[in-house]
Amino acid sequence: ISGLSKTSHSFVGAMNNLFTGRTKIDEDLYEELEDILIGADVGVNTTLELVERLRDEVKERKIKDPSELQPLLSEIIGDMLTNEDESHHIQLNEDGLTVILFVGVNGVGKTTSIGKLAHRYKSEGKKVVMAAGDTFRAGAIEQLQVWGERVGVDVIRQSSGSDPAAVIYDGIQAAKSRQADILLCDTAGRLQNKVNLMEELKKVNRVIQREVPDGPHEILLALDATAGQNALVQAKQFGEAVNVSGIVLTKLDGTAKGGIVIAISHELNIPVKLVGLGEKADDLQTFDTDQFLHALFK
Ligand code: GDP
Repeated sequence: ISGLSKTSHSFVGAMNNLFTGRTKIDEDLYEELEDILIGADVGVNTTLELVERLRDEVKERKIKDPSELQPLLSEIIGDMLTNEDESHHIQLNEDGLTVILFVGVNGVGKTTSIGKLAHRYKSEGKKVVMAAGDTFRAGAIEQLQVWGERVGVDVIRQSSGSDPAAVIYDGIQAAKSRQADILLCDTAGRLQNKVNLMEELKKVNRVIQREVPDGPHEILLALDATAGQNALVQAKQFGEAVNVSGIVLTKLDGTAKGGIVIAISHELNIPVKLVGLGEKADDLQTFDTDQFLHALFK
């Protein structure tokens, strides 16, 4: 993944340095590895667990050669990123409207991700509608409208300041009457008044549950990869209001610390489903564990 080149360069470089000239696996090596992982935003807890698992495997498999650690580490990280009962794919409703609700703090790239996802589904021949449920942030409705025009998808909107749940309700009715396949719902992300925001999100969620069987089919939380461990805090806050089913990790192209993917998947136990790798319509990819590991350990 070219958008991972920053992470790839710094991590691959650090790994090479770590193993160059080493002849044995010792305490010093483990400590240096911990520093590299924490520096890559893997997070302290996840790093400690990772290195613990590495030590255990080294003992069990009687590994002596430091060069064997790299594939082993890749294997353990792969394991942490893959949870058997969780798919990295977006769940679509095969016989009717799929509703995807997006939540996340202002500025993380929620609206952009919705635009990109609309583009993807449109390109696949699906009928898509977007609902401008962020009626709070100045410009959010217009921004979604711009994306709608760019990718050729209708946007259901009301005026700024109106009730988000009413906008989403309108979006659902419009999507149904146009026989759309997918409805993408934007929501507000202001943190000035957290309690109100969370109540608002719950209300939007209830409207979707009431109007669409099995809806929402996905609740995607957008997190900014450059926000580091703060992203974990945000995830916990949103997780208290709604049942987040997947993470959209944005701006992964803008960081050398892609290890945040590991921290998020592992500590939240929510799969990273999509990654944002730039600002253009095409810069959104389904997260792929193997590609990610390849970028880290090529
Ligand atoms: P929102 O407030 O969460 O809806 O955030 P926006 O969608 O307005 O995005 C905030 C800024 O981040 C914009 O300038 C976007 O172009 C930019 N952005 C969003 N996703 C990505 C990404 O994956 N990579 C990069 N480099 N920029 C992004």
